[in-house]
Amino acid sequence: MSLDDSPREECGVVGIVAPGREVARLAYFALHALQHRGQESAGIAVSDAGHVMVQRDLGLVANVFDESALRSLRGDAAIGHVRYSTTGSNRWENAQPVVRNRGRAVVALGHNGNLTNTDDLRALVDDGDGEPLMATTDSELMAAVLAAQEGSLLDAACAVMPHLSGAYSVVCLTESELVAFRDAHGVRPLVVGRLDGGWCVASETCALDQIGAEFVRDVAPGEALRVTADGIESRQALPPRPPRLCVFENIYFARPDSRLDGASLWQQRHDMGVELAREAPADADLVVGLPDSGTPAAIGFAHQSGIPYGEAVVRNRYVGRSFIQPDQDLRRQGVRLKFNPLREVIDGKSLVVVDDSIVRGTTTRQVVQMLRDAGAREVHMRISSPPVQWPCFYGIDMPDRSELVASEHTVDEIAALTGCTTLAYLSLPGLARALGMPLEGFCHACFTGEYPIPVPEQALKLRLEDAIDPARV
Ligand code: SF4
Repeated sequence: MSLDDSPREECGVVGIVAPGREVARLAYFALHALQHRGQESAGIAVSDAGHVMVQRDLGLVANVFDESALRSLRGDAAIGHVRYSTTGSNRWENAQPVVRNRGRAVVALGHNGNLTNTDDLRALVDDGDGEPLMATTDSELMAAVLAAQEGSLLDAACAVMPHLSGAYSVVCLTESELVAFRDAHGVRPLVVGRLDGGWCVASETCALDQIGAEFVRDVAPGEALRVTADGIESRQALPPRPPRLCVFENIYFARPDSRLDGASLWQQRHDMGVELAREAPADADLVVGLPDSGTPAAIGFAHQSGIPYGEAVVRNRYVGRSFIQPDQDLRRQGVRLKFNPLREVIDGKSLVVVDDSIVRGTTTRQVVQMLRDAGAREVHMRISSPPVQWPCFYGIDMPDRSELVASEHTVDEIAALTGCTTLAYLSLPGLARALGMPLEGFCHACFTGEYPIPVPEQALKLRLEDAIDPARV
């Protein structure tokens, strides 16, 4: 639901090789399309076949780059990154692309995901070239391990990938090579596109659309590829494993105008609403979606149920993840900073309210109260995903188990805690029907606790063992 209570995507990446074109400007526009994947920092590295230049800073893409910055970033190849911090705090050193010396050359790297074996990697680096780590992220560790390898950057990526555990979609750049690679299960998305005069990779197809690139294919799980002006040189660096794309990309994270594995996310989200209406119908006057993420599923619910769809809440699109925190009085207003209800639409009506997920439950409770204050007679909450009961270890910022309201409360209890008239979640089979493919092809650990990639025991213990405190709901 794009609020502070929601899970957040960690990062978005892009890589472009297009000699003769303004690659930094192309990367800049691609990053604009990926801005929803991270709003804390942005960066671009360019290579001009002799040097690598990097500009990165805290803030939105539009704040970090101006015309003169883009003009000064000249080259034939560029990588770009937007970040929301899940590992390492939000400070300048952690902005990406991170840069690491590689002999007399450098390697710049941007990463989307989260590694689960950072201790092993840290030991490798400590035994390595001795250059101190400046940042606190797993991405810098990855760059350090990569920089320590001999041979081409593609050779280095293929040598390093077997040592990485976790989720990663990576772009990296030296003076002479742009390489991208994806973890063995393909947890985070990465696609290949063809540009006029070059080739590119990006986290989502919406970034390709933004820069006029044509979608070619998804990067395969475990694949490493060198992007050149003439095409893609591909190597299957890791033995193929069952794909486990993060199903939350389909439910919420990726933009609805993107396509994943050839499927339209808007259509899948619409169909989640259709399935939800079949599984949990409600007698109501109006179906509303919490903008923007709940909208496609709300439209699907309305289509299936025959209940009219309407806009009942206006979202302030300019209140993002801000560095300036509201004062105490404003904070008390909670969701009112982002949503304003349309009393003339809501007053006296029974509403079906469709949202994509409930994490802690605090936001849902505030939304329900806001709608009741605006005159709603009944609020039937319908959630277009199953209950989130387990934390994520693969790059999504989700609270520990003790703070996930569904981990120790039944659906009826959550309905009572949040104050809605009725509450229903989409079932796992319903989700699979909406996706049009079996759930075996996805990571769904935050719903089921079935983690497809091993998680260190200590991290698991820390995040799973606390009992939930109902006072936090
Ligand atoms: S645990 Fe959930 S949010 Fe994390 S990768 Fe798996 S499906 Fe996505």
